[in-house]
Amino acid sequence: MARYTGASCKLCRREGKKLFLKGDRCLSDKCAVARRSTVPGQHGAGRKNVKEYGLQLREKQTARRYYGVQEKQFKGYYVEADRKEGVAGENLLQILERRFDNVVYRMGMASSRKEARQFVRHAHFTLNGKKADIPSIILKVGDVIALKEKSRSSEKFKALIEDASSAICPKWLEVDLDKVSAKVVALPQREDIDFPFEEQLIIELYSK
Ligand code: SF4
Repeated sequence: MARYTGASCKLCRREGKKLFLKGDRCLSDKCAVARRSTVPGQHGAGRKNVKEYGLQLREKQTARRYYGVQEKQFKGYYVEADRKEGVAGENLLQILERRFDNVVYRMGMASSRKEARQFVRHAHFTLNGKKADIPSIILKVGDVIALKEKSRSSEKFKALIEDASSAICPKWLEVDLDKVSAKVVALPQREDIDFPFEEQLIIELYSK
C-alpha cells in the first residue's frame, strides 16, 4: 500500500485528537483540531455512535498514524509484540518507540516524525557509526545514532540542536548534544510514552 500523502491535519480530525504530525504548527492556534474537531466530510459532524469494533479500529488507526506506519508493517509489529513475553500492548508501543525515525524525533532532531523519516532516508544519521537510511529499523539497547558531521553545519540542524538543548528527552535515551548523538540506554516503559493510547483495544482488534 502506498504511503499516505494527503493532508496530515485531516488524519487528526478523523481521529478527533491531535496526533502532532506537523511540528510547531500543532502547538499553535492554527491547529485544525483546535479550530474544528469534527470528522472531515459532509456527514462528519453527525457520526457519533461508535461500537466496540469501531473503537478498536480507531485506536489502531490513531497509533498507526501517530507513528507514521503502514498497515502491513503495523500488523507485523503486533505479531512480534504478541509473541514476546509481557503485556502485548506495552510490547507493541515499545517496538514503535524504538523505530529509528521515532528516536530521531524523540532526541529533538526533527520537528515531526515525518521530518525525522525524511532525514533518515536522506542518510543524515549514522547507526553505531555506520551508514543507515531505513526509518523502520528497530533500535536495541546499546545502539547509538548520531548526526553526520557534514550535516551539522546546515542551518536546519543548527536550529534543531539549539531547540533540543532546552527539550526534555525520554529517560530511555541518553542524548549528547555536543556529539549530536543519542544512545538507547533502556527499553521504553509505558509511563515514558506520553500519548494516551488505549493499546489493549489494538490487541483486541488483532486478536479476533
Ligand atoms: Fe494534527 Fe498538527 Fe494538524 Fe493539529 S496542526 S491537526 S495536531 S497535524
